[in-house]
Amino acid sequence: MTRAGVLGLQGDFIEHIRALRSIGVDAVDVRRPEQLEGIDALIVPGGESTTIGKLAAQYGIIPKLRERVDQGMPVWGTCAGAIFMARDVPAHPHPLAELMDITVERNAFGRQVDSFEVDLSVAAIGELPFHAVFIRAPLISRVGPDVETLATLEDGTIVAAQQGRLMATSFHPELTQDARLHRYFLSLIAA
Ligand code: GLN
Repeated sequence: MTRAGVLGLQGDFIEHIRALRSIGVDAVDVRRPEQLEGIDALIVPGGESTTIGKLAAQYGIIPKLRERVDQGMPVWGTCAGAIFMARDVPAHPHPLAELMDITVERNAFGRQVDSFEVDLSVAAIGELPFHAVFIRAPLISRVGPDVETLATLEDGTIVAAQQGRLMATSFHPELTQDARLHRYFLSLIAA
């Protein structure tokens, strides 16, 4: 049985655990570096990237996580988690994992559209659109040469990207019943 971890320092990790369990995955929350040893994949949830970064650094999660990524463990960051994944986040006050060659702008959609929902086309998971919930979401303003864009808004704004076994999405797939992105992410284990 696949065992997936969800970084449980802050944010909506419970929703990701629920989503993973609903598709038959053994899901656990991860708060200590040594717990990264016992899992096949890790999700970093939405929440507040400043808090997640600060606590991850404080608890010694980041070096161990980089080691596991070097060993091939898939990691997926959603919303604040996507910020945590990015190598470049302008003016971020706390440490981040810096795993993906992307630039992410926080709170990028402005106050008047702080939160919105949209049906996205995501070719990697099939033809049916994915209903995406954005909550004070970041956007991906640059992707490096090894990064594939998985989804954009109609105006071309990148909201989902993949670099090998690493993924970042601006939105919250754990807040809908559609588990296709969770399944897609898990398919990266030992792929
Ligand atoms: N605005 C938050 C941040 O910058 C992210 C919001 C979210 O995860 N829903 O960390």
